[in-house]
Amino acid sequence: MAERKTQIVVVGGGAAGLGLVRKLAATYGRDSHDIILIEKNRTHVWKPLLHEVAAGSMDANADEVGYGGHAARWGYRFFNAALERIDRDRRMVVTAPLRDEEGEIVIDRHEIRYDYLVLAMGGVSNDFGIPGVLDHAMFLESRPQADRFRRKLLNACLRANDAGTHGGDVTLPVCIVGGGATGVELSAELVNAAKALRSYGLEVFDEKALKITLLEAGPRLLPALDEEISDKVAERLRELGVDVRLGAMVTEVAPGRVSLKDGTDVEAQMILWATGVRGDPALSKMTDLELSRQGRIVVEPTLRTPADDRIFAIGDCCHCVLPGKEQPVPPRAQSAQQMADHMVGQLDRAQKGEPLRNFVYRDRGALVSLSRFATHGSLMGNLVGGRMEIEGRIARFAYMSLYRVHLMAVHGPWRGPLVILAHEFNRVTRPKLKLH
Ligand SMILES: Cc1cc2nc3c(=O)[nH]c(=O)nc-3n(C[C@H](O)[C@H](O)[C@H](O)COP(=O)(O)OP(=O)(O)OC[C@H]3O[C@@H](n4cnc5c(N)ncnc54)[C@H](O)[C@@H]3O)c2cc1C
Repeated sequence: MAERKTQIVVVGGGAAGLGLVRKLAATYGRDSHDIILIEKNRTHVWKPLLHEVAAGSMDANADEVGYGGHAARWGYRFFNAALERIDRDRRMVVTAPLRDEEGEIVIDRHEIRYDYLVLAMGGVSNDFGIPGVLDHAMFLESRPQADRFRRKLLNACLRANDAGTHGGDVTLPVCIVGGGATGVELSAELVNAAKALRSYGLEVFDEKALKITLLEAGPRLLPALDEEISDKVAERLRELGVDVRLGAMVTEVAPGRVSLKDGTDVEAQMILWATGVRGDPALSKMTDLELSRQGRIVVEPTLRTPADDRIFAIGDCCHCVLPGKEQPVPPRAQSAQQMADHMVGQLDRAQKGEPLRNFVYRDRGALVSLSRFATHGSLMGNLVGGRMEIEGRIARFAYMSLYRVHLMAVHGPWRGPLVILAHEFNRVTRPKLKLH
């Protein structure tokens, strides 16, 4: 009887999972292993670029990776479905039925066997249980959400412009909650988009008509960055016309209004919620694995779950506190990429029965892009002698490097540079704004 192949199942093809399945497929080939990616979407767009998709300054159709084609090229299997449940006793994952827009089942519920399971399902914004957030705010965690935001934004701009040409109010108030990278980068990107709209024939609507309020509950923006950089970013955003409010604690979100703890309201036609990262609330129904207070899967420093030596978790969905640290590894693209790299060796050691090694997180610094207006951040490492603050073109280059590292992980050492070149070429040739 033919020997059964080792089946490695990865759930989630994002910043961590997609590079991982490519590397696993390239390492093992198809003879001895089946590498399977379970992913609920059909295409991948790198999450840190979603604010550009939402503002229309990036055309995701040109930059997305189709999982089907990628799988065929690299020799893994792509299964288009959402994880529904993990059956640890039978070492099976159960996927939910995939339905079309009309609700008709396209692919029925399935059971997929695993020898090793890597959960890389990312996270969601934390609504902190604040009333009205889930019903009345928009989110920026997936391509469909970014597309929806862009369509609503464009319609709102056109409506405001139309009202302005008839002597009415041309202003469009937008409220962004959360002064982390997503909120900050989206604010600047929206100002850039509003400026560009003028050349698309909108007679009276411009960046002055777009009234952005950025709310942050803490004392400063970008807590992951140095205070000096946070201050500079806040100052630059204010120069761009963004109303930055610090210490602004949201208590309720209602249609057209965000209420604050100090008793005031912020009127807004569009509300975007971008605070913190927590695990998908559905996780607790999928598995009996231990979850942190933020609903993320608790893993040992080896990235393995304490309860099951066949199951690992990486990226935003995991809660990993490394020896000597108090805080978990931060939910960032660089952590996801580093964990994915570590998993390749870890799975090899697990199969050979060798001891697993602890993950080592190397903080390379943090960068924030204010669209084409500015880039700020700090780099970490021996080369720069610890922490070095950077801005301008060097910072922009470093910011884009993170995406290039991702493209190399996803497309490999030969195709990767070509994809990067094509990406740069596209940036120059394509229109400034995607208006559909
Ligand atoms: C707008 C924005 C800007 C950001 N900017 C930065 C930045 O500048 N720098 C930085 O370091 N980080 C940034 N981040 C954070 C960064 O994107 C994440 O830390 C990173 O993407 C995490 O990678 P991941 O693989 O864990 O999750 P993700 O990249 O989110 O991938 C998770 C994948 O799992 C899939 N999935 C989810 N649930 C299921 C399920 N039940 N079944 C099957 N598939 C499932 C999803 O569809 C997705 O493809 C930003 C995030 C956002 C939203």
